[in-house]
Amino acid sequence: MRVRELTQVKRAVVKVGTNLLSSPEGIDMEFLSRLCAQIARIRQMGCEVVLVSSGAIGIGARMLNISEKVTSIKMRQACASIGQPFLQYHYSMQFAEHQLVSAQILLTPEILRNRRSYLNTRNTVETLLALGAVPVCNENDSVSTAEIGNAFGDNDRLSAMIASKIDADLLIILSDVEGLYSRDPRKHPEAELIHEIKVVDETIKSIAGGSGSTFATGGMRTKIRAVEIASRAGCISVIASGNHPDVLPEIIEGREVGTFFFPGKRESQRSRWILNAHPAGKIIIDEGALKAIRQRKSLLPSGIIAVEGSFPAGAVVMINDIAKAVPSFDSTELQALMGHHTRDIPSIIGNNRRDEIARPEDIVFLAEQ
Ligand code: GLU
Repeated sequence: MRVRELTQVKRAVVKVGTNLLSSPEGIDMEFLSRLCAQIARIRQMGCEVVLVSSGAIGIGARMLNISEKVTSIKMRQACASIGQPFLQYHYSMQFAEHQLVSAQILLTPEILRNRRSYLNTRNTVETLLALGAVPVCNENDSVSTAEIGNAFGDNDRLSAMIASKIDADLLIILSDVEGLYSRDPRKHPEAELIHEIKVVDETIKSIAGGSGSTFATGGMRTKIRAVEIASRAGCISVIASGNHPDVLPEIIEGREVGTFFFPGKRESQRSRWILNAHPAGKIIIDEGALKAIRQRKSLLPSGIIAVEGSFPAGAVVMINDIAKAVPSFDSTELQALMGHHTRDIPSIIGNNRRDEIARPEDIVFLAEQ
């Protein structure tokens, strides 16, 4: 068996999905106890751990004897409020068996988007880790506003966002499958597990396909998206089966379990913020402007063909379908400026404004260039 180089890993985010955690009775206590024991072990191996645990909605639903998938927002919120404290209680009890204290952090996208609340959250996580506690995170489903497309939606994404925000070296996504297969293993028994992936390209994305089960929201597709977020934070990702008894220590030891994703170049926190933000609108630009921004030049008003949506200056917007940017003008100003020369900005908008729409550092390409 080949050994992977993971000795440099000092901080890992471990994500566990609803399928692993729940049993017909509610929580799969055997799994939870094994998971906490493994986390205790990898901490002893010198790796700090932040756990991202799903399960609140599924466990809440089971406590209410609901067996079908919970789809309505109000029921998801209610089930999460019932399931989350129960889940956290059991984490506290299980970690205590290993002389570990656990802590609960419930997040919404707004918390991570807003600089002040994000910094506060990061400080809390840092303090908890320094104290030797295990932060257990989940989306704050009972207050999240999924009906306006404003929630993380799945904990794969949430776990990658956390890994990126706290500069983790490793993201481990535990699932009920072994990793990423060459084809869907449920339909194609000849499918092979892919051990290593250097870059998440279109082929990998097409292999990852659609999502699955009753309570879990993810599937391979959301996991691969999470890997992309982590990769641009310079973070290694591993997708592996949570059903192996020693999967976490084995990953940290560098054993070949699951699918290993090499990290990309670590981008700045600002670039990552732009990349991971929900776009407030869209700017369509012409070929010439596209070529210029690809060469790390500024976006100028003359290259803009259309502006979609209504957004303030400083919001994150899409540039065609290939990049995100933070323009220094609002959508109304951009409508007025589009197609014009830079020297016309003062006469159209007024003085003391920037003479470019977005500088190179305000533009981030969705795929690494
Ligand atoms: N936050 C949801 C829960 O705790 C899980 C979302 C997911 O399945 O990824 O039930």
